Amino acid sequence: MVARACLGELPPEPATYVLLLRLKCPVDLTVGKLGRFSFPCGCYAYVGSAHGPGGLAARIARHLRRAKTLHWHIDYLRAHAQPVAVCYYVGEERCECRWARAFATMTGAETPAARFGASDCRCPSHLFHFATTPDLAAFGQAVEERILMETFSD
Ligand SMILES: [Zn+2]
Repeated sequence: MVARACLGELPPEPATYVLLLRLKCPVDLTVGKLGRFSFPCGCYAYVGSAHGPGGLAARIARHLRRAKTLHWHIDYLRAHAQPVAVCYYVGEERCECRWARAFATMTGAETPAARFGASDCRCPSHLFHFATTPDLAAFGQAVEERILMETFSD
């Protein structure tokens, strides 16, 4: 299930997360060394994990900051897309590849950029495009974990 977080701020602990972004206009982007891709407008779900200093709080703060050195694949898309929400699961266990597999089976999921966010694993992609907001409750049920959610305002 997806429960709404009432923490006020995100925990500075290791976590697996899904960052939801909205892209208002389609863009063609060169994503580092990965290549050039066309990103249609709509909703994007990026699956990642935060196990560095500051945990989830530090990672999401980075995603929310617009001005920064472009380092990860998601940084290139983030420069054009607006963060909408984050769903997360606090824990040392790295769930992102399993979560990516769950997203891949969801209705309407497409992968516009092969290998996006998946440099360190064998997943086809850790980024999924949806024409409309994906059914996060269904995702939560599919991964069978207690997932919290925090939404961002513009
Ligand atoms: Zn993976």
